[in-house]
Amino acid sequence: MSARLRISRTHYPVRALGPGHRLGIWLQGCTLACKGCMSRDTWSADGGTETPVEDLAALWQSAVDRGAAGLTVSGGEPLQQAESLAAFLAAADEIRRGTDRDLDFLLYTGYDEDELDEPRRAAAARADVVVYGRFDVAQPTDLVWRGSANQRMVPQSALGRHRYAEFVDCAPARGPLQLEAGDDGPWIIGTPRRAALRTLDRSMKDLGLDVTEVTWRR
Ligand code: SF4
Repeated sequence: MSARLRISRTHYPVRALGPGHRLGIWLQGCTLACKGCMSRDTWSADGGTETPVEDLAALWQSAVDRGAAGLTVSGGEPLQQAESLAAFLAAADEIRRGTDRDLDFLLYTGYDEDELDEPRRAAAARADVVVYGRFDVAQPTDLVWRGSANQRMVPQSALGRHRYAEFVDCAPARGPLQLEAGDDGPWIIGTPRRAALRTLDRSMKDLGLDVTEVTWRR
């Protein structure tokens, strides 16, 4: 049987987690339980949908055909499905090699580098850039694409170093944020600052929308 990944959701185009328009894949299942996590709906290892790697590769091919600049994998904790993730990133790599564009892979993990066992290290090595470290609600940050100040953005390939050099220490006045409406209610793409979430909640209440049934409150 081919490798399968348990997926929380996918989305294209993602514009708030990495440069350009991207395919976003959120993996289901995380045992790290960071206090203040805004993705508690991704914690259960029984949730989401088990998806063959081939289906995800087809999704990536479709995003590439639509002009994607890259792929962002988040969660949940992607490295708790390390072997299947490595298989998917290998398939995604084959696809990008078939283009004449530089398409980057950005991976989020709550682990630090020194916590990785061999399968997790092998999966993480397939990404051009990795954001390492647990979300720490006590360490707010303005750094782009990071949820807390302790999280480290580590370019790992020549493409990653070239494309992300300007972003490693970048702290824009307003962080990128994307609000999407799913079948299960509104959900956020990005790493919102606390003030941004409060503003969003107020705006949604003003519009008469239910802010209890949103992914960042579950
Ligand atoms: S690693 Fe990510 S998904 Fe898991 S608890 Fe921490 S912030 Fe939430």
